[in-house]
Amino acid sequence: MSLVEVAVPLPLPGALTYAIPPELSGLVAAGVRVGVAVGPKRVTGVVLGPAGAPPPEVTVRPLLEVLDAEPVLPRQLLELARFTADYYLAPIGEVLRAMLPPDLEPWGRQRVRLTDRGALAPPRQGLSRRVVDALHQHGPMRVAELHALLGSAELPRELAAMRQRGELALEGGRGRQGSRYEAAYELAGGELDELLARCGRSRPGREAVRWLHAVGRPATQEEVLHQVGCSAAVVRRLARLGVLRPFTQVRSLSLDAHLLGRRQRPPLVLRSDQEAALATVQEALAAGGYAGYLLAGMTGSGKTEVYLRAAAAALEAGHGVLLLVPEIALVPALAREARERFGERLAVLHSGLGSAERQQEWERLRSGTARIVVGPRSALFAPVLDLRLVVVDEEQDPAYKQDSTPRYHGRDLALVRARAAGAVALLVSATPSLESRHNAAHGKLTALSLVHRVGKGGLPTGVLVDLRREKEGRRPGEVTFSAPLREELAGALGSGEQVVLLRNRRGYAPLLLCRACGEDHRCEACGLPRTYHRRTAELLCHYCGATRPVPTACPACGEEALEAVGAGTERVEERFAELFPGVPVATLDRDAARRPGGAAAILERFARGDVQVLVGTQMVSKGHHFPRVALAAVLAADTYLGFPDFRAVERTYTLLTQLAGRAGRGDRPGRVVIQTYHPEHYAIRAALDHDDRLFAEEETRFRRIFHYPPFTRVVHLLVRDRRRERGEERIRQLAQRLGHHPLARGVRVLGPAAAPLERLRGKWRFQLLLRATSGRRLRELVAAVIPQPHGAELVVDVDPYDLL
Ligand code: ADP
Ligand code: ZN
Repeated sequence: MSLVEVAVPLPLPGALTYAIPPELSGLVAAGVRVGVAVGPKRVTGVVLGPAGAPPPEVTVRPLLEVLDAEPVLPRQLLELARFTADYYLAPIGEVLRAMLPPDLEPWGRQRVRLTDRGALAPPRQGLSRRVVDALHQHGPMRVAELHALLGSAELPRELAAMRQRGELALEGGRGRQGSRYEAAYELAGGELDELLARCGRSRPGREAVRWLHAVGRPATQEEVLHQVGCSAAVVRRLARLGVLRPFTQVRSLSLDAHLLGRRQRPPLVLRSDQEAALATVQEALAAGGYAGYLLAGMTGSGKTEVYLRAAAAALEAGHGVLLLVPEIALVPALAREARERFGERLAVLHSGLGSAERQQEWERLRSGTARIVVGPRSALFAPVLDLRLVVVDEEQDPAYKQDSTPRYHGRDLALVRARAAGAVALLVSATPSLESRHNAAHGKLTALSLVHRVGKGGLPTGVLVDLRREKEGRRPGEVTFSAPLREELAGALGSGEQVVLLRNRRGYAPLLLCRACGEDHRCEACGLPRTYHRRTAELLCHYCGATRPVPTACPACGEEALEAVGAGTERVEERFAELFPGVPVATLDRDAARRPGGAAAILERFARGDVQVLVGTQMVSKGHHFPRVALAAVLAADTYLGFPDFRAVERTYTLLTQLAGRAGRGDRPGRVVIQTYHPEHYAIRAALDHDDRLFAEEETRFRRIFHYPPFTRVVHLLVRDRRRERGEERIRQLAQRLGHHPLARGVRVLGPAAAPLERLRGKWRFQLLLRATSGRRLRELVAAVIPQPHGAELVVDVDPYDLL
């Protein structure tokens, strides 16, 4: 009997070996999912490939069931999974779980039936004809049965094409997938207040109305239920009350119903630097084989235009394309652009989609109906056929790093996938990461750069405000609207222009302090002060999310002497409204993003001009294109600088540069105001003077001298324990075992030490930072000293981004 290796989603060191029972032979292939027993449990795993004979004392159990009629993961992705598990020292089963959509229907379990169209006007020849005949003869059947009957490797692709032509329907276990139409709703006319009044006392109903009003467009039922978290009955009731107007639409359009308004524009003529960059990439695409590029150019220099044209070239040649962005919030804008150019060939994948939609997109890619995918980090695992181009936009963004197991870096794995597929990789950034700059300097990536800015605006003028000279607000965390900033604001607002104000801290104030006794309302579980949120009247721990109501008197001494110290976005908005009454202002931060409509609604209102000033955290600095923004300001540029993280300076520079990129993208030059306590710091100077080389040189020097990446590779080990002494003891022992290991030569060990956030969610945290010039060496050492599985209370982070 032959044996197979099966990866199961449990923290086990590796894959398990199972036997293929005779009745299942012929159904098993690498990449199909199978049901297996692990101890008393029954789980779903993925077949990796044939296994060698186990030691004689091991009894091999049989596979219980084969779930898919064909692989859910192609060979290349299985190999990528193995690489990921190896490199990031993560269990293979958990890697596969991260790769697959969470509740993927059993593949080949779906039932196929003929539609009227397929029955009445059947295709005349070929495989599709045989499919129709079989379904005529035997009635609806499972894909697997059809497969057994017709036995063609082309079947999946054919079925997808037939489905696309409306000749047959595929029905999943939950019966949703096959239906071609779905319910959608729009708000009935009238004022919001009046609509809300008509909802009666139904809270979910009012939420749904608020949400639809905030997004300002029709939405599918699934979307409403998903966003508002209400039941279908609520929505139907609103329709009966005449608050919502129901209609039906074709499902395949549902993803982007709101994106369909095509813009009419003349085709752009590329500038010569764009032309040159594109030509280089196109040559590489035509030549075949792996090639890696770093496309750098300031915000608004037309990088997106270049990579979308490269994508068009790859698609025209019949190949597949992967477009990655760092955050879900950036998906819609790029998807809209890509949809206009590539139509139905585009798939969109992200966790905000309903599971039916996600599966549909996954299936369209796998069957080759869709050839290009746009999505965040996890989309890098999408089953794109014949991959030829991989684009990683904003490649420097830390959001590419996953902060739970497997802790992979999306950009780095995208490069690995491109190399394995023989595809062209294009990393894109206005402020490339030090790692990518290093790779470009050493010939691992070819540098391409755009040197001009689109439009007449040119680069924004920088205005530096030295906060040390400001009289008010010298307490830490305090936020000032300095005289120069107020002047700039008055100027911009006076001429009707838009403004972006960055304050990288949400809530009202970072601290609610008792002036009488010094009580600062620390979180019991995390040991850090809670943030005062005035809108919700809460004291919220930003580390663990625990909240408590705001007291009126100090709970420690009873005095009514509580004072909000410092400012977050809420207070900045309040202060702004005092200074400039009547100017429409909105806040964009994580709290706002969670309210009805979310970030998208706020951005839409800002883009329409309903809002003149946008206050926000780093969310405002990313990727959006607002031609009417004339002024961008950062209230305190030093927020990150002092963090105990070797990337703190890089983050500061990136944030400031991106913020500057928001200003003056239209026809007028913009202005940037940077308020700081460190006016001489090279990150601030470089961002202010648009001197990228200054930043790169200084930062490179710092990283080299102090042995940080890209000059070394780093592994971060973190021990968490409810009991402090026990945690300390564990990290100490770990450090000792590492230090004494023969592989430890050439490895620098920093620590053991308490982590900067020493206590989080009730657990004490201790850390070790390992560095070496050879990443392989380092991983071998860690793998030797810390065998898998090691439990969730020890975090092993390869190439870490979060050192707090
Ligand atoms: P980046 O990705 O570098 O921030 P984009 O590609 O988004 O820049 O370009 C910014 C804006 O300029 C977009 O609206 C884009 O359509 C426009 N644009 C790009 N290239 C050109 C060009 N050659 N001529 C005119 N407009 C352009
Ligand atoms: Zn806490």
